[in-house]
Amino acid sequence: MKKTVWIIAVVLAAALVLLLFYDGIADREASAEFFSMNTYVTAKIKGADSDKCAQLVRELTEHLDKERLSRTSEDSVVFELNQNGGGNAEEISDYLEILFDVCEKSDGAFDFTLGAVSDLWCFGSEPKVPDEAEIALALSHSGYKNISLENGELTYNDKFAVLDFGAAGKGIALDEIKASLEDKRMKEAVVSVGGSVLLMGSKTFTVGIRNPDGNSGSYIAKLHIPEGCVSTSGSYEQKFEKNGRTYHHILDPKTGFPVNNGLESVTIISKSGILSDALSTACFVLGYEKGNELAKAYGCKAVFVTDDKKILAEKDISDIIEVTDKAYSLVIQ
Ligand code: AMP
Ligand code: MG
Repeated sequence: MKKTVWIIAVVLAAALVLLLFYDGIADREASAEFFSMNTYVTAKIKGADSDKCAQLVRELTEHLDKERLSRTSEDSVVFELNQNGGGNAEEISDYLEILFDVCEKSDGAFDFTLGAVSDLWCFGSEPKVPDEAEIALALSHSGYKNISLENGELTYNDKFAVLDFGAAGKGIALDEIKASLEDKRMKEAVVSVGGSVLLMGSKTFTVGIRNPDGNSGSYIAKLHIPEGCVSTSGSYEQKFEKNGRTYHHILDPKTGFPVNNGLESVTIISKSGILSDALSTACFVLGYEKGNELAKAYGCKAVFVTDDKKILAEKDISDIIEVTDKAYSLVIQ
């Protein structure tokens, strides 16, 4: 009898040790920080394979940039397409289909063929205000209607058109990272690629909305949300001043000039990375009324920040937003 009690006690103790050990492993944390896709990428991962997952985030992002989406890497699919004025686009055709759809539904406010125009502004290096004539010429070679996709083959009707994944590539990276982390021994992941963030795990996450006036460390509000993707497009990014005027990198495809509609940022919450990223840019160009309709058409939530310090959103946002900067007021539409 005494022996049986002893055996049970030893087995229970061993099980407890194993459980504690397993829990320790499951909570193992790893992080990664690097520069890719012309922006800073950070990953914080919790789980038994967190080290491998953090490494994977790096490999996937760098591969996506260098081999597929970069406009400047000579090995990328997009570089070759731009160089040859079209060609085989099978590797990225799923993404292209979604982006064509956003172009159509946004009535051209989103246009991923504006590369010739954004090149003139030299954002990311030494920005300058191009001549109006230069912009008009570049615009005449742009426009998603000049490009068509059929059976994975992209045809440029205008050979000078330039594809630019600047407004959607970061979100695509999030989708690829999400797909590859899903079957890994991983409890939680927070990966940010520039202004786009992937949240994975079964808890409520907190994501900040940046202060458009302040430095990158200051926030005006917090969003409390379950797993998914959140992207922000802001006029505070790549901003520069010339002759007393301020310019930024979100362009109105009708004029080729930065959008000037009283918005400072748009944040989109979505299950999909490519949609959160593309729609944050599209909704910025469209402004509150049309932008909010577009976000809703895709089943996404949107938060608009104006230059007169208002945070505009629909009622469903009021339960998940916490305004932390008293200078800003939440206006539920
Ligand atoms: P984001 O920060 O996601 O809003 O992306 C901005 C980047 O997308 C710019 O730096 C340009 O490369 C590109 N871009 C600018 N305006 C547009 C637009 N109207 N539609 C699509 N891409 C754009
Ligand atoms: Mg975007």
